[in-house]
Amino acid sequence: MTLLRCSSFYRTEPVGFVDQEDFVNAVAEVRTVLTARALLQALQQIETEMGRVRTTRWGPRIIDLDILLFGQEVVQEGDLVIPHPELHRRRFVLVPLNELASYVIHPSFGVSIQGLMQRLQDESRVERIV
Ligand code: ADP
Ligand code: MG
Repeated sequence: MTLLRCSSFYRTEPVGFVDQEDFVNAVAEVRTVLTARALLQALQQIETEMGRVRTTRWGPRIIDLDILLFGQEVVQEGDLVIPHPELHRRRFVLVPLNELASYVIHPSFGVSIQGLMQRLQDESRVERIV
């Protein structure tokens, strides 16, 4: 897996389970020969190596590595859904993703990332830090 580009880092307000501290979110673009499923396993291994213990869903976690897009592939399996099913609803995902991929088309909706940003309802706080 090769890192190609990384977005700025953002301090973001928790959405859903809100009684917790702010998160830091960023998006990276990587090149890989792995399949989507093998990439998910590789990301979960990194999470475990970094000391993530799976507790409450949406609760505090030291790291969360999700696959947002995988080229133009669409995957719909129980434990792997690509594009990420919440991508278009979350400001904390779309703001950093838009830095790297504003013209990229979401393969299920046929709308660019910029277009998803314009339709976004989520008004939660997303502040660029670095
Ligand atoms: P969160 O939904 O907050 O990311 P987890 O990181 O605990 O929560 O992920 C829960 C499950 O989501 C994982 O075990 C994984 O199988 C599944 N999953 C489905 N699609 C994806 C995706 N695109 N990227 C990462 N995980 C995914
Ligand atoms: Mg995750």
